[in-house]
Amino acid sequence: MQLDEIIQRARELAQAYRITKGDTFRLQDIDPEDTAGLEAEDKPRAQEGLQAGVQALAALQDRLYAQDRWAVLLIFQAMDAAGKDSAIKHVMSGVNPQGCQVVAFKEPSAEELDHDYLWRCSKHLPERGRIGIFNRSYYEEVLVVRVHEALLHKQHLPPELLTKDLWQDRLRDMRRFERYLYRNGVLIRKFFLHVSPQEQKKRFLERIDTHEKQWKFSAADVRERGYWHDYMAAYEAMIRHTATAEAPWYVVPADHKWFTRLVVAAAVIEALASLDLHYPQADEAKRKELAWARQALLEEQ
Ligand code: ATP
Ligand code: MG
Repeated sequence: MQLDEIIQRARELAQAYRITKGDTFRLQDIDPEDTAGLEAEDKPRAQEGLQAGVQALAALQDRLYAQDRWAVLLIFQAMDAAGKDSAIKHVMSGVNPQGCQVVAFKEPSAEELDHDYLWRCSKHLPERGRIGIFNRSYYEEVLVVRVHEALLHKQHLPPELLTKDLWQDRLRDMRRFERYLYRNGVLIRKFFLHVSPQEQKKRFLERIDTHEKQWKFSAADVRERGYWHDYMAAYEAMIRHTATAEAPWYVVPADHKWFTRLVVAAAVIEALASLDLHYPQADEAKRKELAWARQALLEEQ
């Protein structure tokens, strides 16, 4: 398949899951089991499609790197076991590691809590020409911290700043931060992998029962399931307030991992293809330099 055709197909697939205006967004409208009409027997074809997509991504990343103008930031948020790690692993499997970095954000350290919450994330923003991946991000500040308000009280904020508008203010700050980044040449795409509680339970049981997966399991994850409803409300508010044309959310059905990967790959291809990526043109001075170097090499004894 030609690059143009892959880009066209990626656009069509990704578009259905992209949210650029949050006002009317409702999480319940998105079915975690959705596969865009593809059936289990289409899985091998989907996997071939993913392979073609991964190659297309590598080609686009090479231009991004050579051009050295835009940086791309991909943010992943999800409940546990929704497949963030495996989506990142599969979708980015073809890209040049030199042009890509993944950062996982866990519970903040004492040092991190002594700063504003964007501090630790800003330090890891990708350079121009690179793709940066945030496995969780500053959005945890309106997710886990909102669901467990005790975490907010660990942040040493001046008490007079803990107002009833705090969550709305944080969401607005995030939206503006992303607009600021866009204006500085950072293209942001955000992914919420939407898994159902039934599928999460299945995956937890599989982790418990499989020797190679036990290390991934933590009993705390099971306790977090008890807050499912609160988390979904927090995710919905987050998407409603921070989905913009410059930094859209993709709400990706996540009960079928093969489909999740396909949609994420499509969205990343679409994002890169939306930039006018091309290899830098050699200017007059560069052409002279190349001509000189060719001559020098050919004349070597
Ligand atoms: P896995 O899929 O392997 O479980 P993970 O992303 O869940 O990966 P963990 O180390 O299990 O990684 O969990 C990180 C934890 O850190 C999450 O529970 C998350 O909510 C928490 N966390 C991240 N950012 C913050 C934050 N700003 N404040 C409080 N907790 C946070
Ligand atoms: Mg976890």
